[in-house]
Amino acid sequence: KIRLDHVVKTFDTFRAVRDVSLEIESGELVALLGPSGSGKTTILRMVAGLEFADGGHIYFGDQDATDIPVRDRGVGFVFQHYALFPHMTVQENIAFGMKVSKVKREKSAIAARVDDLLRLVQLEGLGDRFPAQISGGQRQRVALARALAVDPKVLLLDEPFGALDAAVRRDLRRWLREIHDELGITTLFVTHDQEEALDLADRVVILNQGQVVQQGTPEQVCREPGSAFVTRFLGDTN
Ligand code: ATP
Repeated sequence: KIRLDHVVKTFDTFRAVRDVSLEIESGELVALLGPSGSGKTTILRMVAGLEFADGGHIYFGDQDATDIPVRDRGVGFVFQHYALFPHMTVQENIAFGMKVSKVKREKSAIAARVDDLLRLVQLEGLGDRFPAQISGGQRQRVALARALAVDPKVLLLDEPFGALDAAVRRDLRRWLREIHDELGITTLFVTHDQEEALDLADRVVILNQGQVVQQGTPEQVCREPGSAFVTRFLGDTN
């Protein structure tokens, strides 16, 4: 379980995140939803340890995250423009994290794990291709396989399907949900796309100007939008 307790982040004088409190239960898939500039990415980066809160606390279980070095947090990331290494094959990209990980594995164990992951992300047979030789959607699946390769406890996804067209996004959404359900991995997902959030998440946290304006299941926020902002923001799908 991850808990943010009155978290604040200021860049110079600009308050990007203002007093955000939220909880992500183990195994839950939570979407952070909000317009551009609402602080979603900043929150994700603080959970990852790439950015530090200047107010409040973030807890992983009972432990204050500031006491946990980044590489011990057990987080895997996928970003919108996740640069796969262009000079490495799909297999090599997936194996990369395992090779640099603290947990040393035999070559054969790495190869077996890569095979498992290729199956999981439904890219069997494409392991020898280079990133330029596969589609954008396939690349994001490789990025996810790479994030999963080191058995993260938490998966952080920042607009992972943002650059793809609508049909591919829909496919990947369904597929991500299946993978999530199979692995039961705690997932925090950033998107500005209300349809994506409502379709995919167990719970949606809606942000505006650095603050949580509403959170609940997709049904709850759609049935009872808590403010004019939420109504307007969700309105596009209705
Ligand atoms: P988007 O969907 O456009 O990525 P977001 O909701 O993820 O938006 P953030 O990237 O978290 O929003 O940014 C929140 C605010 O903080 C923005 O106004 C942004 O300009 C500002 N900000 C983010 N990072 C920095 C930084 N390193 N230095 C200064 N300002 C920053």
